[in-house]
Amino acid sequence: MNILSIKHLSVSAGDKQILSDINLDLIAGETTVIMGPNGSGKSTLSNVLMGHPAYQVDSGTITFNGIDITAAKPEERAALGLFLAWQQPREIAGLDLYPFLFDAHKALRTGRNKSLPTVFQFKEKLDQETAALQVKDDWSHRNLNQGFSGGEKKKAEMLQLALSDPLLAIFDEIDSGLDVDALKVVGKAMKRFKKKNKSALVVTHYLRILKYLKADKVIVMAKGKIVASGGPELAERLEKEGFTDIEKL
Ligand code: ADP
Ligand code: MG
Repeated sequence: MNILSIKHLSVSAGDKQILSDINLDLIAGETTVIMGPNGSGKSTLSNVLMGHPAYQVDSGTITFNGIDITAAKPEERAALGLFLAWQQPREIAGLDLYPFLFDAHKALRTGRNKSLPTVFQFKEKLDQETAALQVKDDWSHRNLNQGFSGGEKKKAEMLQLALSDPLLAIFDEIDSGLDVDALKVVGKAMKRFKKKNKSALVVTHYLRILKYLKADKVIVMAKGKIVASGGPELAERLEKEGFTDIEKL
């Protein structure tokens, strides 16, 4: 069964066309990897799947878990079980981190008709997840991402992932800017997420993250289009040879 099905998707921002005629099916339970040179539209695709308002869908459809979400609001997509870890998480001054996480968690559970945890139950889960992510500082007085290092921002994304419990997680360059230790922590968190019934879409330039999450399928984007697709061996070839040949396609 397809968890996500993209048909003839073309997208623009303002008067600039960014994605053209994207067709992609993600099979439930699989890990799909997107590679491609900078500026090829990987982040745009990730953002459009989540319903980012900066982008306009000019044509095509996005179906998630059997439901047409092409025009759905981001919060509706999240409630249905879609999650995006940003390439560049925003710093939001004045948004207290822990109350934000609690509110987001409750909103998602409400959207899924699930029971709400007490503040104590939530705190217990939060403590488990921050420990697993090896968060050493006290984040209880922090604002969302404000003053966080690159690695801490990515850990905060993984914390949100664990509390969101989505069906499909999109990781947009979750591994960029991470040192070896942080990469290991984030990689293990991806692995904890990726159980049999969960699906992942991983945007990356590097094979190192695929040690934690084995790719089932690899697709390559260039200039707003999907230009190649294959198995894990395609990722290996691209890391060795780069995109030069692919871009000629
Ligand atoms: P990638 O993630 O593959 O590096 P992006 O999706 O970030 O690529 O960008 C693809 C192209 O779309 C780039 O030329 C970028 O400048 C442009 N782009 C992305 N977002 C916007 C936007 N909100 N407004 C205008 N242009 C954008
Ligand atoms: Mg990007």
